[in-house]
Amino acid sequence: MHDNYSGPSFPSSSPSLNSGLPSPSSSGPKRVYEVATKRPDAISWDDYFMSIAHLSALRSKDPSTQVGACIVNEWNRIVGIGYNGFPAGCDDDRLPWSREAESELDTKYPYVCHAEMNAILNTNGAESKGCRIYVKLFPCNECAKLIIQSGIREVVYLSDKYHETDSCKASRVLFDMSGVRCRRHEPKIGEIRIDLRLPEGEKGTKQINDDG
Ligand SMILES: [Zn+2]
Repeated sequence: MHDNYSGPSFPSSSPSLNSGLPSPSSSGPKRVYEVATKRPDAISWDDYFMSIAHLSALRSKDPSTQVGACIVNEWNRIVGIGYNGFPAGCDDDRLPWSREAESELDTKYPYVCHAEMNAILNTNGAESKGCRIYVKLFPCNECAKLIIQSGIREVVYLSDKYHETDSCKASRVLFDMSGVRCRRHEPKIGEIRIDLRLPEGEKGTKQINDDG
């Protein structure tokens, strides 16, 4: 559905940028140019935004579960991204990351902010109303409440591994009652590999001293 958006279009009768310049045919043999067509294998919007959710998850310090979220508006523009972690200013090294402990206060659960919450709060004033949210994991009931209250109308998720938990059951009740659509992402591509290393020849001659 969202794949139909094709960005700006240009009128076919737009004036040539070369008008006013001498015609190339007036001097020398005429050069034949190959006409380029668009790449047919650009990734889909859904794969693109789900990949951004994955990329955000790489920022998570949580040793057991890394979740990312990406909020997108009807024009396929990103309005917020987030990943799971402790609130700003709360030391990652002092708060616990455990899933189980004698006291709940020694687990991560009372302290951690889920990816959806952070994405909703990271919109820098942009409107979440009418948006869709891409998440690696089907939202818990606390995030379901935030999603609904922020006006997001669609949840696109990859994994639903906690489907049978009360939390996810409650999420489905809330999404169903409030009319928020949920769909599992069907990837068109298997993986994306991003190599941040440049080949030797492309590094340039001047190295910036990174000691400072
Ligand atoms: Zn949650």
